Amino acid sequence: MNQMTDFGALLAKVRLPTGRVALVGAGPGDPELLTLRAARRLAECDVVVYDNLVGDGVMALVPAHVERIYVGKARANHSMAQDEINRLLVGLARRGRDVVRLKGGDPFVFGRGGEELQALAEAGVPFEVVPGVTAACGVASHAGIPLTHRDHAQSCLFVTGHLKDGSCNLDWPALARPRQTVVIYMGLTGLAEICAQLIAHGLPPEHPAGVVEQGTLPAQRVVTATLADLPQRVAEAGLKSPCLTIVGEVVKLHENLAWFGCGEALA
Ligand code: SAH
Repeated sequence: MNQMTDFGALLAKVRLPTGRVALVGAGPGDPELLTLRAARRLAECDVVVYDNLVGDGVMALVPAHVERIYVGKARANHSMAQDEINRLLVGLARRGRDVVRLKGGDPFVFGRGGEELQALAEAGVPFEVVPGVTAACGVASHAGIPLTHRDHAQSCLFVTGHLKDGSCNLDWPALARPRQTVVIYMGLTGLAEICAQLIAHGLPPEHPAGVVEQGTLPAQRVVTATLADLPQRVAEAGLKSPCLTIVGEVVKLHENLAWFGCGEALA
């Protein structure tokens, strides 16, 4: 038994040649919003493991000889798939492959990047993280909605409208405070409840709010309204995922600051 344990400990110390994993943020969609380092990792890796929010434009930058593994998944079977993804990354690296794990936006913002790194760390696989432009920043800039503004919002909260168990149980009193901007990721299905709760917790029904569909991409659409009528306006427009919801006085600035897709932007 002791001999077995010693052998196991020895094996663990032997450094087998492994590949490495770069956890890379792909940004919100437009490939020009990739970092230079992300583009370099994509050009130099052996395999890209990517999911559904990574746009076609970004995948078009992956050289033809690089293997592509799609691990996009339906909302309902998250946890199983996540285990499989963790095992896949560890397995690829142990076979000596240099892996890019490519995620939409920034890997550490509602991207489960932390969970994947924990699995890699536990398995002794070397890794690095390449940040990306998170949807809140990319989408707000392309919608002409400054997330902070000295006249309107001194702080900004990023929250997710979709919890692991499918519920939408947010800290409503904190979200309903004045003079701040709230950005809600994955909030489209819960939009009616989100707006109703914000009003119930003290924000006026006429408080500005908006939803941006496919931000930064040519198909981007922006719907601005008030908390009271946003769900109906979004339904009428038929907005579909991916959508980001922004709540706050800054949403009013879109009227004057919209620039993307307006025909006057610089090429
Ligand atoms: N890690 C990502 C977020 C993953 S959660 C990041 O940092 O951006 C996925 C959610 O991000 C979507 O449901 C949507 O709310 C938002 N999102 C991502 N890309 C978007 C885009 N181009 N336009 C609008 N919302 C987007």
